Amino acid sequence: MMDNIIGLPYNKSPDSPVGEHNACSLVQQKTLSEPITCQGIGLHTGRQITMTLRPAEANAGINFLRSDIGADGFVPASWKNVTETKLATTISNESGHHITTIEHLMAGFAGCGIDNALIEIDGPEVPAMDGSAQPFVTMIESSGVLFQEAPRKAIVIKKPIKVGTKNSFISLMPASMFGVSFEIEFNNTALAKQSLEMKLVNGTFKDEIASARTFGFAHEVDAMQKVGLARGGSLKNAVVIQGDNVLNQEGLRYDNEFVRHKILDCVGDLYLAGAPIIGQVNAVRSGHALNHELLCTLFSRTDSWCFSQLSGAVVPGTGALSTDTH
Ligand SMILES: [Zn+2]
Repeated sequence: MMDNIIGLPYNKSPDSPVGEHNACSLVQQKTLSEPITCQGIGLHTGRQITMTLRPAEANAGINFLRSDIGADGFVPASWKNVTETKLATTISNESGHHITTIEHLMAGFAGCGIDNALIEIDGPEVPAMDGSAQPFVTMIESSGVLFQEAPRKAIVIKKPIKVGTKNSFISLMPASMFGVSFEIEFNNTALAKQSLEMKLVNGTFKDEIASARTFGFAHEVDAMQKVGLARGGSLKNAVVIQGDNVLNQEGLRYDNEFVRHKILDCVGDLYLAGAPIIGQVNAVRSGHALNHELLCTLFSRTDSWCFSQLSGAVVPGTGALSTDTH
């Protein structure tokens, strides 16, 4: 029965996808079926980290627990707790305990439609794995997904909002489903200008975005490592560009892997809203800082959005599970 609800095709008028008049069944919240553990190196700290994704009860949301600290190391994955956005997204609690580089894992949860999970982690940084969200999607799929007796809520965008400057900005517009349009431009032959637009529904996250890796320039990596950053960075967990060439022997996973990864980051950062967003994102050269500013601005304008229970007509941000691809 659950499969039928989740797997319903998009079958409503684009103008009325959600709301109290929708006749379709409500979508239920989801969590993991079983705990699942991985180990890896933190991209910036270079530390060996063990991380366990655990099921959580309905309405709990996504929360981190620093197991090396104990109860004081509990940090909800919320835009309200973002304390640093320079190289990665970092969240902290009132005691000052933090977890950094959470965005690829958050993108995995968003992409798999997971509402509730507890992430036990024995250090301050999510393992980099291969630099993409694919390993986290694989973990979630390996655990399995449990449907919960609570309706899934979404944040519906009612009025356009925009943050940034003329050359670097991100905006949210009312739309019938979650979509992202992203453009990047670098003065470099390997990257140059890349743009991509897609609706993040019905399998597109897993198929088109999840495996796109993070990237950096060799000279920037050298400079960062000199000041103690990117200590765990290597060709195993990032695409590295030197001059106009990609140093990774295996090459790129997509011709436009870079813009795909920027969409991945954006999906992960925006999942700190605490619920999936029904709206269209338009971004030009945005990054973690602007993604965060967008959420701060959104939630400061109460007339720009509202909560709505999701019906079977629209399942945003999903795509890791076979039931979502019907
Ligand atoms: Zn990233």
